[in-house]
Amino acid sequence: MYFVDVILPIPVEKAFTYSISEAEYSFIKPGMRLAVPFGKNKIYTSLAIRVHQEEPRIYEAKEIEQILDETPVINPEQLNYWKWMATYYMATLGEVMRAALPGAFLLESETIIKRLVQTIPEDIELEDEEALAILQAFEGRTVLRISEVMQLLDRKKVLPIINTIIDKGLVALDQEIYEAYRPKLVKYVRLADSYKVEDKMHEALDELDRAPKQRELLLTYFSLQARSKKPLKAKELQAQAQASSAQLKALVDKGIFELFELRQDRISYKGADDTQVKNLNDAQSAALAAINASFEQHDVCLLHGVTASGKTEVYVNLIKSYLDEGKQVLYLLPEIALTTQLVSRLQEYFGNKLSVYHSKYTVHERVEVWNNVLNKQDKAQLILGARSALFLPFSNLGLVVVDEEHENSYKQYDPAPRYQARDAAIVLAYQQGAKVLLGSATPSLETYYNASVGKYALVELKQRYGNILMPENTIIDIQDRHRKKKMNGHFSEDLILAIQEALQEGEQVILFQNRRGYSPVLECKTCGHAPQCPNCDVSLTYHKHRGQLRCHYCGYHIAMLEKCMACGSIELDTKGFGTEQVEGELRQLFPDHNIGRMDSDTTRGKFGFEKIITAFEQGEIDILVGTQMLTKGLDFRNVTLVGILNADNMLNIPDFRAHERSFQLIQQVSGRAGRTQKRGKVLIQSYNPHHQILQQVSVNDYEAMYHEQLEERHIYKYPPFCRLIKITLKHRDFQKIEEASIWMGQALKNVFQEQILGPEPPPISRIRNEYHRNILVKIPRKQSLEKTKKAILKVRTTFSSIAQFRSVKIMLNVDNY
Ligand code: ADP
Ligand code: ZN
Ligand code: ZN
Repeated sequence: MYFVDVILPIPVEKAFTYSISEAEYSFIKPGMRLAVPFGKNKIYTSLAIRVHQEEPRIYEAKEIEQILDETPVINPEQLNYWKWMATYYMATLGEVMRAALPGAFLLESETIIKRLVQTIPEDIELEDEEALAILQAFEGRTVLRISEVMQLLDRKKVLPIINTIIDKGLVALDQEIYEAYRPKLVKYVRLADSYKVEDKMHEALDELDRAPKQRELLLTYFSLQARSKKPLKAKELQAQAQASSAQLKALVDKGIFELFELRQDRISYKGADDTQVKNLNDAQSAALAAINASFEQHDVCLLHGVTASGKTEVYVNLIKSYLDEGKQVLYLLPEIALTTQLVSRLQEYFGNKLSVYHSKYTVHERVEVWNNVLNKQDKAQLILGARSALFLPFSNLGLVVVDEEHENSYKQYDPAPRYQARDAAIVLAYQQGAKVLLGSATPSLETYYNASVGKYALVELKQRYGNILMPENTIIDIQDRHRKKKMNGHFSEDLILAIQEALQEGEQVILFQNRRGYSPVLECKTCGHAPQCPNCDVSLTYHKHRGQLRCHYCGYHIAMLEKCMACGSIELDTKGFGTEQVEGELRQLFPDHNIGRMDSDTTRGKFGFEKIITAFEQGEIDILVGTQMLTKGLDFRNVTLVGILNADNMLNIPDFRAHERSFQLIQQVSGRAGRTQKRGKVLIQSYNPHHQILQQVSVNDYEAMYHEQLEERHIYKYPPFCRLIKITLKHRDFQKIEEASIWMGQALKNVFQEQILGPEPPPISRIRNEYHRNILVKIPRKQSLEKTKKAILKVRTTFSSIAQFRSVKIMLNVDNY
């Protein structure tokens, strides 16, 4: 009798045992995928972790369906890492497996496949009649479930054959359909270098005496360039000069004009034109040397460098040295959607060695990256990815760079494992004997604390690259401006003037408002009623553009009301404001300029984000309004002014990190201003101009913020002075959630006494018809985390054995960020 233990991608505690033949016993290696039956009629892809001969005692082992791999797809190091993650974040190995493996590795009976071709291409050989049968089954429909394929072929072993047609590119898994975004390549005109000297210019004009139309084109070019330094579109020039493309082409043929496509040239058009790694300046070189030296003593180094200090170039140089040694390097980013700029920058330096691991890529591409890493291929030596890239099968990792380490999108919320990718990266690196570089202009308090107590090394870059000054920050008291009647909508006169000035110079402006939609509350002027979401405890946000009231938690929406639901009055008022309203006011204030909006409403399409960034980079947008999406390390060359419309609402969020986060957000968004020659300006509007965080931001005093916040954390016992585990209970029944959370709170208090806070309803206490209750466990640094978790799990087990609580969902969140 031979057996194999497998992990199933579902939240069960234990591995399952299946029976195998003797031949299978000698073939199966840990890390291979096996298709196995589970439950009544389900097939799952599982992962073998051990073969043995011990018959399970409590159940009869079923037979496996199929071996899916010839060789292991995960390596032993990974399995170790998964085990750490499951234990540390109180998740199951199956949950970690589901998070770790690319979707394509996890075919199961409910998976949907889609046909990619209308007719079967002639040059594809389908040795198999069954493959043909599956493709024919698509007749008249676009998708099939794998379970339907099982019915069709009247057997369960269908995964291998589906895999063959996926490999041939005939079908794909539903969630994986890939649409490529091809940025529009816009043609621009510039004067050829040789004509930039005055003599040559006159010569050209003389030469064109007999071609008046071409001469006029050239003169129009000069006059447009005198007005604005923005790159000039070929189309625009033609329109202005009323010339034809043939006339423009004649000038290009004469070598007077050059055409270029901004998308490709955008990195080089302002100077740098080599694709070599840049030469670091003295400060950067010193930082690089200090980082390298610190790795003699420390595994983790924090690079604290102000915005635009050139951290990326330091990473690049460091990465290069690890790649030259033949090591693998992982470059982690908080959100991969926001990386267009960085990808092109890194591609220039590292070309083929760079692979991006990206949820937007096809099954194929992701599996390909996976396999390239597994086989230590050159082309996947440097991986750029968001948090899921931690799960790639590294075996030779030398360095992990965690860019913007303070970002809270490094935290995975749902589903489990609820891991913090920055912290998990440090463990991954440790297990692989690699080094970690954390980088930020506004480090998280925890990281800075770890650096100041010597647990991590600290290296600083205090100047912007090229000695560009930090932007000049001004706080504007909007209460005062209201009193003096110097407000126009949500804009102070100061801000309007600053915008006008920037626009006149042909520069661009970024405006930040931390809320999307038109306004978060619609209120009746007569009776005060404000429409609420029926499923959640929040008011509905007014979206003027769509003419809707929408819930930001569950997506519920209704058409905008014409009159109050409660009293019928037609006088409805909006309270508060979001990006849509700012955009609308801007259109009125600056009717002659192009205004763009970047928030999750406008970036929804797969490449919505890239489109807006590209349009902004190409100067098609003059003023960009947006939410915190704007803060993510973008490098725009022509932005000289950043405005923050209302700094107060972020400061008032009920969370012990609200002040720290506000500082980070404001500092990061300000950092987009004046990244080249000219000093940038930042205007911060607030009703609370004396708030200590705003004062600290305005003089760029990270350390003052750090010390003050740290003091508060100390007094109120929050991280880094203790650890937190948050337990969230959810249920549709109010009575039940009350009883259940009180029981759980009491049971925990019996063990942990005053270390327990709650149960408490969170600020939004009902979402999608489920009531939420939070219990917070504060764990002093000295207390064993392992024992604490054991005790919590024990309470949970007892809780779940109580019949009336069985349907209550429990979420465990370790190091709740
Ligand atoms: P950070 O990541 O610290 O905000 P970046 O790495 O984006 O800063 O650098 C800011 C700008 O300065 C970028 O446009 C970058 O190309 C430029 N830069 C930084 N270091 C150098 C260098 N050594 N040589 C040339 N340009 C540099
Ligand atoms: Zn009313
Ligand atoms: Zn809702």
